[in-house]
Amino acid sequence: MVKQIYEQINKDLKEVDPEIYDLIIKEIIRQSEGINLIASENYAFKAVLQAMGTPLSNKYAEGYPKRRYYSGCEYVDIIEEIAIKRLNELFKAEYSNVQPHSGAQANMAVYFSVLKPGDTILTMSLNCGGHLTHGSPVNFSGIIYNVVHYEVSRTNELIDYDLIRDLAIRYKPKLIVAGASSYPRIIDSKIIADIAKEIEAFFMFDMAHYSGLIAAGLYPSPVNYADFITSTTHKTLRGPRGGVIIAKKDYEKIINKWVFPGIQGGPLMHVIAAKAVAFKLALEQEFKDYQKQVLINAKILAQTLKDNGIRIVSDGTDSHMVLCDLRSIGLTGKEAENILNEVGIFVNKNVIPFDPQVPAIASGIRLGTPAITTRGFKEDETKEVANLIAIALKEPHKKEYVKSKVKELSEAFPVYKIYL
Ligand SMILES: *Cc1c(COP(=O)(O)O)cnc(C)c1O
Repeated sequence: MVKQIYEQINKDLKEVDPEIYDLIIKEIIRQSEGINLIASENYAFKAVLQAMGTPLSNKYAEGYPKRRYYSGCEYVDIIEEIAIKRLNELFKAEYSNVQPHSGAQANMAVYFSVLKPGDTILTMSLNCGGHLTHGSPVNFSGIIYNVVHYEVSRTNELIDYDLIRDLAIRYKPKLIVAGASSYPRIIDSKIIADIAKEIEAFFMFDMAHYSGLIAAGLYPSPVNYADFITSTTHKTLRGPRGGVIIAKKDYEKIINKWVFPGIQGGPLMHVIAAKAVAFKLALEQEFKDYQKQVLINAKILAQTLKDNGIRIVSDGTDSHMVLCDLRSIGLTGKEAENILNEVGIFVNKNVIPFDPQVPAIASGIRLGTPAITTRGFKEDETKEVANLIAIALKEPHKKEYVKSKVKELSEAFPVYKIYL
């Protein structure tokens, strides 16, 4: 079915390049089979995919609306202006830049706007949930800047704001970064903003994971607290793969300058059009209802796993993601990822706070509900998935049973329906 639909739509591609075409079909089928619980992934809106596959990709538009380095930008100017206007409306922001090619580029542009090489930044450590671009030694951020990390509390695994304050006073960072890839709880932007003010540091909030929930009003917004807010558009927002920056109007000049020409060349106008489409859809009530269900499903996932004896990091979740500590059932993250992959449940291994394992092994797995919720899973299905995860991990002899149940569930909620 999936194959037939796509063959019809993309007949020409099939003729021009059957090899790549065939691999695209295989990937579409792979995405349709099994159950995707990778917290950073989602199924983009159909209209978003349509906007991306257009001749807007042909257009060079270096610069900003009405101030381009190329002629012929009259239509892409309007598209970019609409994208900015909608993004501002969605997050009640004063200013935004929709050109960053990805979340990493958005962060880089902010860093370059306020930091010089060697400056100190205070960010959450990777094993407590921080992102590579928050000062990892293998990332430009860890190479260029002097990085100090804060961590979560060892007792409740929640962000230790007193520690942030102590480190801020001791090290006087020029920038404090919050936001994370594997921190399932609410982050209090006001407390961090107050700390930043106290030491006259800038405050950047990277909402890459939480932006869909924030847009729906279901997770506290950092707007009005953080000087800079960065995000991806392809995670909870269901937009195209890309990034954005939101800031106070005062920072418009410097951010624009550092996105282009600072770190990027021509903007991807087909992606910016797709971002505009995603923002329009995110402003609708249906999107808010979707995000509500994402949260409900995450809570059920956490509770059901907990009921099955799997320890949940921080004992629960306030977001779309759930972090499991598999030491509670004698497995590593890597082992669990492989076992679940074999039965058709896709998750990623993840370090947990103070993880004794290296990241390539890890003690945890990170689960997220954005993709299954887009697919139509509600409470009952999510509970079933959680129970299947527990069976797969704890009772290896029941692998075939779990596999067949996963297949049944997948077939009852076909992914391609999103794209019909
Ligand atoms: C995903 C993510 C990013 C990076 O996004 P890319 O588009 O992959 O570059 C940055 N920060 C956080 C917190 C993320 O989770």
